[in-house]
Amino acid sequence: MHSEPPVDEDAITLILQALRFAARKHSSQRRKGSDQSPYINHPIDVLDLLWRVGGVRRAEVLAAAVLHDTLEDTATTPAELEAAFGREVLALVQEVSDDKRLPKEERKRLQVEHAPALSEGARLIKLADKISNVRDMRHTPPVFWSRQRREEYLAWAAQVVSRLRGTNAALEAEFERVLREG
Ligand code: NDP
Ligand code: ZN
Repeated sequence: MHSEPPVDEDAITLILQALRFAARKHSSQRRKGSDQSPYINHPIDVLDLLWRVGGVRRAEVLAAAVLHDTLEDTATTPAELEAAFGREVLALVQEVSDDKRLPKEERKRLQVEHAPALSEGARLIKLADKISNVRDMRHTPPVFWSRQRREEYLAWAAQVVSRLRGTNAALEAEFERVLREG
């Protein structure tokens, strides 16, 4: 007898809705790398890392991962996210979003400072986001970035991740692996 594995319909509906929403919001954007890949590839990458490497199964965390750059990088409002995805998803996206009113250097400093105080879901998303960005920095770095600037970025990302220790062993090991890739 062949039996189908159970599918959590609500979870898949939420994640598909997040994918459609993020794809629409990021539709005119490209990543900064030489390949100019569609921006949505990055949130999908973060979702994939959480699912396959981290073994994360909480639907709200997975949906928030897909949406993690919408507040920071698109015209999306918190009210819009809350109406579409609820308060838990909104809170997670807000936790992983920088305050855009602050200067760049201050935002970088605060990411390091605030990392240990984030909720578990937000720490998981941060870890996967940093893995994705460090991998992109290795393989398709932003055009016109000097070697020094890339190295500074990697050092900063490593600093943030060092303050997320004890969140998810597989994701932490994956970060170390991509950081050390040549
Ligand atoms: P940015 O935050 O502007 O750029 C990095 C971010 O761009 C990533 O976190 C990622 O964020 C996104 N991104 C888009 N495409 C790519 C890609 N292909 N590869 C990797 N990331 C991508 O960086 P900053 O300008 O803040 O610079 C980082 C560090 O460099 C700073 O700490 C600063 O000290 C230093 N710096 C050095 C300069 C120099 O000339 N030496 C000049 C300016 C800064 P997301 O997940 O949100 O998409
Ligand atoms: Zn991101």
